[in-house]
Amino acid sequence: MSNYQAPLRDMRFVIHELVGSAPICALPAYTDCDAGLIDAVLEEAGRFAGDILSPLNPVGDRDGARWLAGADGKGEVRTAAGFADAYRQFAAGGWMALPCPPEHGGQGLPRLLAVAVSEMWKSANLSFSHVVTLTHGAIEALVIAGSAELKATWLPKLVSGEWTGTMNITEPQAGSDLAAIGCRALPQADGSFRIHGQKIFITYGDHDMADNIVHLVLARTPDAPAGVKGLSLFLVPKFVLDEGGKPGRHNDVYCTSIEHKLGVHGSPTTTLVHGDHGGSTGYLIGALGRGLEIMFVMMNSARLSVGTEGLAVAQRAWQLASAYARERVQGTDMTQKSGERVAIVRHPDVRRLLMTQRSHSEAIRALAYTIAALQDIAHQSADAAERDSAHRRVELLTPVLKGWSTESAVDLTSMAIQVFGGMGFVEETGIAQYMRDARITPIYEGTTAIQAADLAGRKIARDGGTVLAALVDEMRADCASLATSGNPPLQAIAARLGDGLDHLQAATAALLEKMTSQPAAGLVVAEPFLKLAATVIGGWLMGKAARVAGAAIAGGSTDPFYREKLASAKFYADHILPKSAGLLATVQSDNTLLLELADDAL
Ligand SMILES: Cc1cc2nc3c(=O)[nH]c(=O)nc-3n(C[C@H](O)[C@H](O)[C@H](O)COP(=O)(O)OP(=O)(O)OC[C@H]3O[C@@H](n4cnc5c(N)ncnc54)[C@H](O)[C@@H]3O)c2cc1C
Repeated sequence: MSNYQAPLRDMRFVIHELVGSAPICALPAYTDCDAGLIDAVLEEAGRFAGDILSPLNPVGDRDGARWLAGADGKGEVRTAAGFADAYRQFAAGGWMALPCPPEHGGQGLPRLLAVAVSEMWKSANLSFSHVVTLTHGAIEALVIAGSAELKATWLPKLVSGEWTGTMNITEPQAGSDLAAIGCRALPQADGSFRIHGQKIFITYGDHDMADNIVHLVLARTPDAPAGVKGLSLFLVPKFVLDEGGKPGRHNDVYCTSIEHKLGVHGSPTTTLVHGDHGGSTGYLIGALGRGLEIMFVMMNSARLSVGTEGLAVAQRAWQLASAYARERVQGTDMTQKSGERVAIVRHPDVRRLLMTQRSHSEAIRALAYTIAALQDIAHQSADAAERDSAHRRVELLTPVLKGWSTESAVDLTSMAIQVFGGMGFVEETGIAQYMRDARITPIYEGTTAIQAADLAGRKIARDGGTVLAALVDEMRADCASLATSGNPPLQAIAARLGDGLDHLQAATAALLEKMTSQPAAGLVVAEPFLKLAATVIGGWLMGKAARVAGAAIAGGSTDPFYREKLASAKFYADHILPKSAGLLATVQSDNTLLLELADDAL
């Protein structure tokens, strides 16, 4: 199998021509960044992803992480061969620091660039990339809410990648339902806390790639109220620091097992027991009872990150399917009388499968990078009104991306297997790994149901659909400009997009009515509503991409990329966008019979 090759051309197109890097580089925090720097970083990251991370992907899948039992349940994890060395190169190359704040040792580059770079890590080796995602999550939590002392002690080593981070949320009885978290934190005379309890499914909860691991643990103090309001966030290191600030004694947190999973075998999914030997030492992050609030701020980034995982895995699976389709000879070209046997890429249905993967992935990339740029504006714009408006749109679009991208990745990687035929179903070709790896993405960081409920409840019903309505107005204006372009493919796209926007508006009205009159009826259709909204938003972004491509062609560009983009956008409009009609019917449907059914009928 060939190594991953970063889709640099499309990344550059989306960053510079579709989303627009110029206004992002003009933000006060990013004036040192320009298009040349962005392109240079993309190329270098593409090399690292292709040369170092990609060859380790099948190794991680085949050999997985291993758990070594120790005395008294004090187990340890060994990652697959090559992972620790690759991680050291990754940290030494400054890749962990890329999006982090300069005041803590980071490079402070825009999220618009960071999202593309992170897509590369995830495409090349999803299991490896988890350690980066989790470390960035821990950094973000400390930046948002850590005291000056916590920041000074922990951030520099996390930003440099010398230490890594984890997110300790899930417990056996508390998965989607964070109110059920039972882990306890007992205050100590010196201001620290003793943590007791079991956390499960903790990604990179133990490993051999860095000198220390910084766990962020949700737990409740003795007098805390029940439910999510009683949750606080604690920093619990694997090794407590000695007086010199170096990793010292092993804290009372141990890995008692790792999971055997359907996919992401290279990423250790650990059970961590805090406090079986007296209590693990922890330090409060932010105020007591504010744990969930801090988590919520981080969640937008984490969900954008997992949304990018869906895109990344689908992209890589398409890359492999496309290469296979050009090599595998089977059957004859139906349009030729010669009877000559042809590569399967000549068969119309294989072309349809490949273009579905390509155009769908491109639409998701456009959305992911759009959200990243909005995050840059929300954090860095000098104009408060612009910050606020960008923030609201990020809030609206994040569950859309997370739910749509990850669910699509499961289908798109399955389609890639279809292109391989029987060879897709055997492990030797390596394509099956992508479908197995993709399957976790709609589950962790909030399942699709949780994203859909967030979108329907918090992001739409709560403001009566105001933020969405403003987006629809913008999409309508872009649609009108495609319709009046005088360019037939753009006008055809506009016709489909206009229908999709009608469907989205009708579905929003139906959803709002249901969420008000009978929320359960609204929640039954929240997931199809999310898919409808995503499908139409994807169509809008592909329409915008087609407009840019059309202008380049009209301006005399002979770069084949623009013709490919036009074909991809037209395909999306014809094959993917019309699904909004069926989804609208479902959103408008009456589900009384389902809701009244006895539980044992389901
Ligand atoms: C490989 C892997 C890595 C992970 N990494 C981490 C990590 O690093 N840190 C961490 O803390 N956790 C981690 N997790 C845990 C992960 O976040 C949870 O599995 C996830 O949140 C779902 O919780 P659950 O498994 O308990 O499922 P449940 O919450 O039991 O959900 C089961 C089903 O019920 C549905 N459901 C539940 N509640 C609702 C509701 N209110 N409305 C509608 N539907 C609902 C869900 O959508 C799902 O379909 C990881 C899990 C895996 C498998």
